[in-house]
Amino acid sequence: MVERQLRRRGIADERVLAAMGEVPREAFVPERARRRAYHDGALPIGAEQTISQPWIVAAICQGLELSGDELALEVGTGSGYSAAVLAGLAREVVSVERFAELATRARTTLAELGFANVEVRVGDGSLGAPDRAPFGAIAVHAAAPAAPATLLGQLEPGGRLVVPISGRGADMLTALRATEAGIEERVIAPSRFVPLIGDEGFRER
Ligand code: SAM
Repeated sequence: MVERQLRRRGIADERVLAAMGEVPREAFVPERARRRAYHDGALPIGAEQTISQPWIVAAICQGLELSGDELALEVGTGSGYSAAVLAGLAREVVSVERFAELATRARTTLAELGFANVEVRVGDGSLGAPDRAPFGAIAVHAAAPAAPATLLGQLEPGGRLVVPISGRGADMLTALRATEAGIEERVIAPSRFVPLIGDEGFRER
């Protein structure tokens, strides 16, 4: 996975490649899908949600340009896999999931694997975690209509936010950085994500 799916497709941050190599993805995949755990795509995890394709998790982490000292916020815990990767790259992770059933399972898996620096919360992650802000890095794993203003407001100076922004043909995975002069923006790649449902996301259908 690391060589074929990640390095060959432009993931060059050695810390990200090492973290991806260390987290056992099969532990986050439901029993029936385990033999496809390292498949080059998303897999169902229940509640009509998916564990993201490995490349997407790596591209988000690379876009965050993590040094290891950051308090990071993640929106969309899902299976807990990307939180585990992030936990190897940042000092501490607060991860928010809207489905309690997924959050509970992710919490259990992360605890069983010994990840002590991840807190999983249930709620609307489009509003961030104001009690823990500011964050050095924020990763959003669901497509937003626009960069959520509340999340941008929870970045520390120099902090990075990676978020897929919903578009007509594709969602644009976008990296934003809070600078003294304002917000710098760079598109990482087009992709497809489930929608961010919440106050600063889309309405539930
Ligand atoms: N990163 C996850 C993993 O490694 O398994 C997969 C994330 S999945 C593609 C997107 C997740 O975002 C879903 O679990 C979905 O329920 C969640 N989500 C959507 N809107 C949300 C919101 N406003 N707050 C928190 N979670 C949200």
